[in-house]
Amino acid sequence: KKIIITIDGWSSCGKSTLAKQMAKALNYVYVDSGAMYRAITLYFLRNHVDWTDEKEVHKALKEISLQFVFNEKSQQSEMYLNGENVEYVIRDLVVAEKVSEVAAIKEVREFAVSQQQKMGKGRGIVMDGRDIGTVVFPDAELKIFMTADNAVRVERRFKELYEKNPNVTLEEVKANLEMRDYIDSNREFSPLRKAEDAVVLDNTACTEKEQFQKAMKWVQQ
Ligand code: C5P
Repeated sequence: KKIIITIDGWSSCGKSTLAKQMAKALNYVYVDSGAMYRAITLYFLRNHVDWTDEKEVHKALKEISLQFVFNEKSQQSEMYLNGENVEYVIRDLVVAEKVSEVAAIKEVREFAVSQQQKMGKGRGIVMDGRDIGTVVFPDAELKIFMTADNAVRVERRFKELYEKNPNVTLEEVKANLEMRDYIDSNREFSPLRKAEDAVVLDNTACTEKEQFQKAMKWVQQ
């Protein structure tokens, strides 16, 4: 039987790494819900949308079409915004600086959530994010909530960003993670929470392989 697996948690605690491994092993679809909020933010930034204005948000969302396209070469699905591959540029710190603000807007969340729910209909799916087990798929068969020590998370995200841009500093990465975690867990609409029935996975001290094995045991239960 194909099930729905949700992985929520703080920024940069390894959710997407685990989600991709699980999806591959189970032959499920992996959906990175954060990529959708990042793509919307990119659109807002590029088009100077004033997202404090409800009307502007409403109008802009009508112009946005999001799509995940599977790339045979990288064997991963990539985010497309109005037909353009934005998978790389949405990872930029410029987008990360604003994404939590944009993701806190009610209409933005409704827009993303309704599309996410459609993606999960009738197939095996692993989706990671902040509200997947609580709001998007409250009836999911397996819910994982991931955590890791702050220092470990900052170090990991710094390494990732540094590879792309050697001008990035540890301090700005740390500040960005702290800010996003704060906004994500304190916002009015679907704040980051552990679902009551989620299992906690703290990967501060475990390897990718160990966390994968742990999670796959939960799938079999
Ligand atoms: O997962 P990622 O770090 O790429 O997500 C970027 C941002 O998108 C998060 O910091 C959060 O503000 C928002 N997000 C969200 N709900 C989700 C996934 C991401 O609010 N389900």
